[in-house]
Amino acid sequence: MVTLTQINPNTIEFAEKYGPIINGKMVEPINGYIDAVNSATGKVLSKIGRCGQEEIDQAVKAAREAFPGWSNTSIEERARLLNKIADVLEENQERLKMIECMETGRALHEFDPDYQLSIYQFRYFAAAMLTFYEGESRPVQNGYLITKKEPLGVCAQIIPWNVPMIMTSFKLAPALAAGNTVVLKPAEDACLSVMEFIKLAAEILPKGVINVVPGYGEEAGQSLIEHPDIDKLAFTGSVNVGRLVGKKAGEKLIPVTLELGGKSPHIVFPDVDIDQAVENAVFAFTTFNGQSCILGTRLLIHHDIYDKFVEKLIERAKQVKIGPPTERSTRIGSIINEKQGKRVLSYFEIAKNEGAKILHGGNRVTVPGHENGYFIEPTVIEAEPHMRIAQEEIFGPACTVTRWNDEDEMIKIANGVDYGLAAGIMTNNLESALNTANKLEAGSVWINSYFNFQSGAPFGGYKNSGVGREYSKEALDAYSQSKTIVAAYKLPPAGFFK
Ligand code: NAP
Ligand code: MG
Repeated sequence: MVTLTQINPNTIEFAEKYGPIINGKMVEPINGYIDAVNSATGKVLSKIGRCGQEEIDQAVKAAREAFPGWSNTSIEERARLLNKIADVLEENQERLKMIECMETGRALHEFDPDYQLSIYQFRYFAAAMLTFYEGESRPVQNGYLITKKEPLGVCAQIIPWNVPMIMTSFKLAPALAAGNTVVLKPAEDACLSVMEFIKLAAEILPKGVINVVPGYGEEAGQSLIEHPDIDKLAFTGSVNVGRLVGKKAGEKLIPVTLELGGKSPHIVFPDVDIDQAVENAVFAFTTFNGQSCILGTRLLIHHDIYDKFVEKLIERAKQVKIGPPTERSTRIGSIINEKQGKRVLSYFEIAKNEGAKILHGGNRVTVPGHENGYFIEPTVIEAEPHMRIAQEEIFGPACTVTRWNDEDEMIKIANGVDYGLAAGIMTNNLESALNTANKLEAGSVWINSYFNFQSGAPFGGYKNSGVGREYSKEALDAYSQSKTIVAAYKLPPAGFFK
C-alpha cells in the first residue's frame, strides 16, 4: 500500500537539464537544450534536450542492439519487470503529478485518475502477457501446426503534451510486454514528468530497451519517423502529423498505430434528470481544460428539454472553478501555451462570424500570480451542425449546443463529422441507449457516464480519429506478428513429386 502525500509545488526540485536517455544513461545532446516552462506562470522549470538526427541514430542503434536480448527474455521476467515499473510509478506519483501539473497547466486533481490509469497499464500488460500471449498449436495430418507471436523489433513512438503519463504508458506497456524495444519522443511542451519517469524505468530494464529523445517535432520527431531502421510507428497527436506518420509507415511498409483528434457528440434524451445530466455534460467538455481528443464537445439536446437544459448548463458552467493549476480545488487551469490559447480564442471569433451564438464564456480570464497563463472560461456556443465550430477540434473548454427532435436526424448530426473517437449518451431508456450506441461511428461510447475508461477496453478511433486500438489486448497484437510453423513428422515418401 502506497501512502500518498500532497507535495508543495515550491519544494519541487528539478535536475538542471534533461538530455536524451540512450542506452540506459542520460547523454548530452549536440544541439543543446530547450526551456521547459510552467505553462501557468511562464517560469522556466528546467531544460530539455533538443534532439536531432544524431541522437535519433544513437537511440535506434541502442534499441536495435538491445532487441535480441529483450525479445528472448521470458514472458514471466518481462511481466515481473513491467510490474516493477508500475511500482516505481506508483511510489513516485505525487511528485510526478505535480511536475506534470506545473508543465501542462492542467488542474492537479485530474492527475489522480491519469496516474491510476497509467499504473494499471503496466500491470494490465504484465498480466496480459501471461494470459493472452500464447500461440496456438494443433495436430494436423502427419505433424503439428504451431502459431506463435513474435515482437516486431524497434518501435518508434511519438506522443503529445496533453496527457503525458497516460500516453507514455499507452505506448510503452504493450510494446515492452510483447518484447519490443522502444525509442520514445515526448512533446516539447510537456516532457519533464516523462523524462523523470523514464530515468527510473530505464534503471529497471536492460540497457537500450527504452530510449527517450525529447525535442522539437520537426527535428526529433521527423528524424525518428524517417529513420531507416525502425519496425513500427505509433503516434498520438494531430491529424496532419498523423498523416505524415502514416505516409512514412506506408513507404517503409511497417505497421502503424495512429490516435488522432476527435469531435465527440454527447447526446441528451428527454427523459434524463436534467441536473445530473448537466453536471456530466460540463465535466465531459471542461476536463483536461478541454484539451483532449475524447471530450464530449458537441451537445445534442432533445427539443423537449433544450431550453431548460441549456439554462442549467450555463448556470453550472459558471460554477466551474478557474484557478491556479496546483490547487486541488481548481477545475480549469491554463491552456498549454500562448499559441494554443490564442487558437482557442480565435475559434470563438470564427463561431461569431459564422452566426453561432456564444451563450456563455468566450473570454480569457486572469488568475492572480499566473498572468502568463491562458485561462479560458467554460464556453457554451449555440451552433448549427455544419459550422466550423461544430466540426473542428477546438482543444479548449468549450462545447456547442444543438437541438434535435427526430432520432434519425440526431444520428446523422452525431456522425456528421470527420472524426469518430468517442461519444456519450444520456438516457434512462436502455433500448434507446443501445440502439443509438450501435449506430454511432465512434470507437468508444459512454452511456450515462462520460470518460468511463475501463482497463482492457479497446481504445481508438473510427474515420480520421485514427488507425488501430490501444489500451487493450488488441495492442499486444499491434506490437507483434504471428508466425505459423507447420512441422511434418517426416519427409514425403520418395517419388511423391513424380
Ligand atoms: P501534434 O502537433 O501532432 O504533436 C504530437 C507529437 O508529434 C508531438 O510530440 C510533436 O512534437 C510531434 N510532431 C510534430 N510535428 C512532427 C513531425 N513533422 N514529425 C514527427 N513528429 C512531429 O499535436 P499536438 O498539437 O501536440 O496535440 C494535440 C493533438 O493531438 C490534437 O489534435 C488531439 O486531438 C490529438 N490527441 C489525440 C489523442 C488520441 O488518443 N486520439 C490523444 C491526445 C491528443 P512537438 O510538440 O514536440 O513539436
Ligand atoms: Mg512543435
